[in-house]
Amino acid sequence: MPIFQSATYGYSGDGNEELIGYTRPADSPNHFALARIIATLEGTEGAVVLSSGMAAISSTLLTLLRPGEHLLIQHATYGGTNELVHAELLSLGIEHTAVDPADPASWEAAIRPNTKVFYVESISNPLIGVADLEAVAAFSKQRGLTPVVDNTFATPVLLTPARLGFIVIHSATKYLNGHSDIMAGAVAGPADFIAMVREKMVVYGGVLDPHACWLLQRGLATLALRVRQQTASALALAQFMEQHPQVEAVNYPGLPSSKFHGLAQTLFGGFGGGVLSFEVKGGSSTADALLKALELPLIAPSLGGVESLITIPSATSHAALGVEGRKAAGISESLIRLSVGIEGTEDLLADFAQAFKTIANGSANNSTLAQLKVS
Ligand SMILES: *Cc1c(COP(=O)(O)O)cnc(C)c1O
Repeated sequence: MPIFQSATYGYSGDGNEELIGYTRPADSPNHFALARIIATLEGTEGAVVLSSGMAAISSTLLTLLRPGEHLLIQHATYGGTNELVHAELLSLGIEHTAVDPADPASWEAAIRPNTKVFYVESISNPLIGVADLEAVAAFSKQRGLTPVVDNTFATPVLLTPARLGFIVIHSATKYLNGHSDIMAGAVAGPADFIAMVREKMVVYGGVLDPHACWLLQRGLATLALRVRQQTASALALAQFMEQHPQVEAVNYPGLPSSKFHGLAQTLFGGFGGGVLSFEVKGGSSTADALLKALELPLIAPSLGGVESLITIPSATSHAALGVEGRKAAGISESLIRLSVGIEGTEDLLADFAQAFKTIANGSANNSTLAQLKVS
C-alpha cells in the first residue's frame, strides 16, 4: 500500500469529484483501505479510523448523546475517558452514573428514563478486570440502550464484541498498531452509525494522517502473531508471579485463580491478554527497586507495543486519585502494571527472576546489563 501523502486531490473533470477530495473527511485511499481491514477484523459493516483513541471515544459519545441525556459507564475507566465524561460531557448537560461492569444486579438501580448508552471496557486497567459483556448486551437490548465497548486491551484476536451488538472502540495507538510509534483510534459498527461518527470526526477535526494510516496498516499485518506471543508470555509471567514468595497478589484473568477467569473463559476462550498487574511485598520502595533491577521492560506508560512496558500506577496513571482514592479503587501503592512485549518468554522470566533476586539482596543495580545501561 503506498502512502497518499496529500491533503487534497486534483479533479479530473469526469464528474466524479465527490469521490476523493480533501483529507479531513478521511477520504484518502489509505483511510478507505484501513477502515475495511478494521471492519473485517471486528466483523462489522463499517469502521472509521481517527487521530487517537480519545478522538474515537469522544466522536462516538457525541454521536450517541444529546444534552439532557444520561449514560451508564463502568467505574474507573481509562483516565482520558473519565475526564471526558466528568468534565466535558457534564458541561454539555450529559450526565452519567458509574456502575460495576461485572455486577449485573447493580445496574437496574442506576438506569434513568433518559439513559441512552452503556459504556464499558472489555478488560480494564490497572486491575485487569473483565466486563460481563453478554449481560451488558442483554441488559442494553432490553432497556433500549446502545452498548459501547472499548476493546483496546482484548483486541479482536481475543474478542469481537460486535457479534453481541456492541459499537467497538479502539485506541489503535496500542495493540492494533503495536509498535508504540503513532497515535490512532478506530470505531467499528453498522455502516449508518459509522457515517454519523465520521461526521463528528470531520467537524471536530480528529482525522488520522495518511502516513500514520500506512504505519497502522503495516502494524495490523502482525496483530495476531504479536497478541498470541504477548498472551502466552503474560500467562507464563502471571503463573511465575503467583508462586513467587515476594509477590503479594497477581491480577490476570488468564489464571484459573482469578475471579474474572469465568468471564475470560466465556469471552476470550480462557486467555487473559497481554497485560497483567501484581503487588510486590514491601510497599512502593520495593516496587521502585524492582523496576530499576529489570533489564528488559522499559519504564514507560502506554501498552500493547512490541517492547515490554512497565509502570507503577500509584505514581503515574492513578497518581491524581490520591492515597484514599486509590484505596477505594483497590489500587495498592506497590501495584505494578506490565504490558508484555514480544521478547522471548524465557528471557522475560529470567529477567524477573534476577530482578527479584537483586531486590532480595538489597542492591537494585548490581547486574551487568543494568551497569551497561548506566554507563
Ligand atoms: C490509551 C487508551 C485510550 C486512549 O487512547 P489514545 O490513543 O491515547 O487517545 C483509551 N482507552 C484505553 C483502554 C486505552 O488504553
